[in-house]
Amino acid sequence: MPHEEFERLNREREEIGDNPFANPRNAAAGSLKMQDPKEVAKRKLDCFLYYIPHNLEGVKTHYDALKYAKELGLKISDNMAICRNMTQIMEYINDWNRGRRHLPYDIDGIVIKVNDLSLQQQLGFTTKNPRWAIAYKFKAEQVETLLESIDYQVGRTGAVTPVANLKPVQLAGTTVKRASLHNADIIAQLDVRLGDTVYVEKGGEIIPKIVGVNLHKRPPHAEPVRFIDRCPECDTLLVRKEGEAAHYCPNEDSCPPQIKGKLEHFISRKAMNIDSLGEGKIEMLYDHGLVKNVADLYDLTYKTILGLEKVIPAEEGKKEKRLSFREKTAENIIKGIKQSKNVPFPRVLYALGIRYVGETVAKKLAAYFKTIDRLIAASYEELVQVEEIGEKIAESVILFFQKPIHRDMVERLRTAGVQMELTEAQPLEPQLLQGKSFVVSGVFERHSRDEIKELIERFGGKNVSSISSKTDYVLAGANMGPAKKAKAESLGVPIISEEEFEAMISRKG
Ligand SMILES: [Zn+2]
Repeated sequence: MPHEEFERLNREREEIGDNPFANPRNAAAGSLKMQDPKEVAKRKLDCFLYYIPHNLEGVKTHYDALKYAKELGLKISDNMAICRNMTQIMEYINDWNRGRRHLPYDIDGIVIKVNDLSLQQQLGFTTKNPRWAIAYKFKAEQVETLLESIDYQVGRTGAVTPVANLKPVQLAGTTVKRASLHNADIIAQLDVRLGDTVYVEKGGEIIPKIVGVNLHKRPPHAEPVRFIDRCPECDTLLVRKEGEAAHYCPNEDSCPPQIKGKLEHFISRKAMNIDSLGEGKIEMLYDHGLVKNVADLYDLTYKTILGLEKVIPAEEGKKEKRLSFREKTAENIIKGIKQSKNVPFPRVLYALGIRYVGETVAKKLAAYFKTIDRLIAASYEELVQVEEIGEKIAESVILFFQKPIHRDMVERLRTAGVQMELTEAQPLEPQLLQGKSFVVSGVFERHSRDEIKELIERFGGKNVSSISSKTDYVLAGANMGPAKKAKAESLGVPIISEEEFEAMISRKG
């Protein structure tokens, strides 16, 4: 993802109240994970091709093969060179270590390859990699600056992260003012003190890190850092579990960042799937005092959220920004919340965010107890009887429903119309696909890929990720890759369509 597109995309996200991507790499990865190819196409992802996996007549070197591909109009990087010895290779690397800042996209290194194709063939491959190519990764740039103070940030899970405030310094093309210090152990290990001059590096993440202290510049009487013992957001005494590096704020139901974390989990795709709400929008609703727990979402109306505003204070050289929920946004949010009332009970259970109750556990619990009331009433002995439910999960479920605030939340969700039991529409299905394995590939018309996979499991079938001779069916949607298709055909695995699959699981079928 070129820098220009990355910046455009982030501007667009900020305008609609979504959080910006941290860096182009995250933005590209996030784009590829989207389910809708039309949306992906809007983001101008690009690529360079770098290898022709085939011998061409008369072409004896890798360089010539790429040149030929370029003549054919394929997209090949202009930045390559033939080097005759190690000195030339190092010169090229050093050159680009400085020059890469001027490229319109990010690179993290350079690949060095054997040019002669017959030598490439002789060298061959290890199980994973060619022996004739190796990557040189640029060393992270390092600078020295003053550590002025330390802030403590509370994350969505309650984990507390110390963040260093630095005297602003230029690093790899950006001004760095803050750096992560990770946790109390790292602070002790580095022996960082206030007023120290520290070495800062930029790794793969957007937030740079402190990697060491210049002891020669330490001021006299500098005292070791004392980690805070109370949550900076809600003043609760922090806890540190045995064997864990992080300090946690245990006040999960009323510590602001943790509430936001729970709301974000609730609306996420595999939970209630309210995709018209995102991190930024949740934050806005929370900051306006409209949503303090997940049940509050169902009290929102078009009128209460229309025109909601957030002012982003002006930064150096930039104007103050105003985000607001316009008609279309407000409409979509309300619609998304309303639709979530159809989400089946197992996913609702997962969405509640009970510790250790992931997707699979939620399904098992829902299948066994059928209703939230029976689950709430379940004893420890009953819970551990359920397949795959151990002590840890059982305790966590009991603890969760012991709290009146959680039981009250469940009541409010139920009153709002959220599914709190397995209904007629979603009974435990006859195991029509018992013993059959499926590979699901491509995009489907009437179901999302996750829905198809859920159907397979619900009817007793198994999802597998790659095609083998043991696969019973390949369920193919639009855009299934040609390689998969060829593999299924060569192994004689039947390829079926969405309709054929639906027939298989309909009672008549
Ligand atoms: Zn807290």
